[in-house]
Amino acid sequence: MLLFLAVACSSGPDAAALVAPPVAVVAAAVAPPAPPVWPAPGAPLRVLPGARVEGTLLLDAGHGAAGNTGNTNWRCESEGDVMRRMADRVATALAPVVTVRRTRPDATLVPYPDRLRASRSVAFLVSLHSDSRAGTDLHVDPATGCYVNSGAAGFAVLWSDEGAAELVAARGAFARAVARRMAEAGFPPYPGLDYGGLYEGDEVPGVFVDRHEAKQRIMLLRRPIVPSVIIETHQAWDPEESARWEEPATWAAFAGAIGAAMGDVAAVERD
Ligand SMILES: [Zn+2]
Repeated sequence: MLLFLAVACSSGPDAAALVAPPVAVVAAAVAPPAPPVWPAPGAPLRVLPGARVEGTLLLDAGHGAAGNTGNTNWRCESEGDVMRRMADRVATALAPVVTVRRTRPDATLVPYPDRLRASRSVAFLVSLHSDSRAGTDLHVDPATGCYVNSGAAGFAVLWSDEGAAELVAARGAFARAVARRMAEAGFPPYPGLDYGGLYEGDEVPGVFVDRHEAKQRIMLLRRPIVPSVIIETHQAWDPEESARWEEPATWAAFAGAIGAAMGDVAAVERD
């Protein structure tokens, strides 16, 4: 075999005879390349069409209370800081869609009971968070000393089924509407592999109900008297997905999905 290759690749006087004669180039039908898959750069999102929604949304930047900074992301930033930055951007994107109130618009630490009080005079509450999931290749970045991984991207909408039946039904409807609209806008739902017994999946992908021990259940899910959800917007240890949430197109698509979900629930209530 080696001898044959040496002869075939030689450039002696007979080499030209081994070269195939030119043939006419025929234009072949080439399939367009498949679009990139989230969270890869350029994976498409869209802003859902919709009219301005009635009612005020309380937008909470998760954590940022005394002794409560949340996770540490792949860039070694605290979740509380990242979510406040995200809330600034999402609030701006939401302004044409709905009236927005904020729980912590600046660096001041805000106790959770204060946020609960603020939720009494709005129509919906959305609390922004990021997850820290093990994924498939969790490791410490030697350059920063912080965790990095991939393979665990996607959003999760968390809610509580505790309380009066009517309120629970409204919360569940809002959680499902948010997940459906986010998926429609191009955000993929996280399948919940790392949630174990803490959250239970729903028939709508990306929706999870709180199943913590009774005393550890999440205040902003079970105590507000208006429909409330936590949105785990992305995986904090995934550099690609984190980068997507730094893009104006992502904030616009997210704001459109939230507005559409509020409109869905309000429309059902009107019927
Ligand atoms: Zn969080």
